[in-house]
Amino acid sequence: MRITILGSAAGGGFPQWNCNCRNCAGQRAGTVRAKARTQSSIFIQPDAGADGLLLNASPDLLQQIKATPALQPGRALRDTAIAAVLLIDGQIDHSTGLFMLRERNGKLPLWCTDAVAQDLSTGNPILRVLEHYCGVDRRRIQPDGTPFEIPGLAPLVFRAIALSSKAAPYSPHRDAPEPGDNIGLLVTDPRSGKTLFYAPGLGEIDAQVFDAMHQADAVMVDGTFWTDDEMQRLGLSRKTAHDIGHLAQSGPGGMVEWLDKLPASTRRLLIHINNTNPILDEDSAERAEVERAGITVCEDGMTLDF
Ligand SMILES: [Zn+2]
Ligand SMILES: [Zn+2]
Repeated sequence: MRITILGSAAGGGFPQWNCNCRNCAGQRAGTVRAKARTQSSIFIQPDAGADGLLLNASPDLLQQIKATPALQPGRALRDTAIAAVLLIDGQIDHSTGLFMLRERNGKLPLWCTDAVAQDLSTGNPILRVLEHYCGVDRRRIQPDGTPFEIPGLAPLVFRAIALSSKAAPYSPHRDAPEPGDNIGLLVTDPRSGKTLFYAPGLGEIDAQVFDAMHQADAVMVDGTFWTDDEMQRLGLSRKTAHDIGHLAQSGPGGMVEWLDKLPASTRRLLIHINNTNPILDEDSAERAEVERAGITVCEDGMTLDF
């Protein structure tokens, strides 16, 4: 399978439009060596050149399509290589791009859990609005690890597991989490036997999540924050990383420590990186630390084949 990183930043992108933190201001001024990034989304194809699955539809989707020729194969007057979209949650930065696909010929095949479909039909009724345009052919994901296939993406096999995190702020059940508010996805190519684990929002690594990470040949996981109090320290928010459903990378019990427990052969990648995270600065001590730990910091446009 081929995986293309369309966007590697967390919500807001990098630099974020209204932010003048060290990273954002430095990136704009050219005084911090860091690459700009769009909001997180990846594209998975069984083979390079084939139609694929869009994993999350970011508000930056149109920019990502322009930057990625593989998404527009040009076989017909109206064409796209996006065979289907899969949402791992119902957050703004993962779902708003659906609006940008409204000109599609025919209903958009959309894979998500019941919890996400409900949020996107009530608190943020994107799916209802889309009924006035291309419409959505909604397909149910059960977040219980049952293998499923997606038409047009054979022979790839998908499995979803429920993650403990939070529904979006506009969810009618924001304060009563349901399994399926957030999922992690395992994608296996039976030809190579290789598996990707994708979880851009990962609040906690429980036994089931760690087992999924262990099964994978590549893990592409939550790279949002370096420290749990990153936003508080900068005076940008009163909330910790944990409060908003993200496990910080540094310190005891952090993501770097968890990734270190995986087999040496596992590819480790961080995605969904917040604009405040010091690992974006290619000259920072934090970036050097993750690289020493054998971890790749995802960049827009990167591809992986396995
Ligand atoms: Zn996000
Ligand atoms: Zn910033």
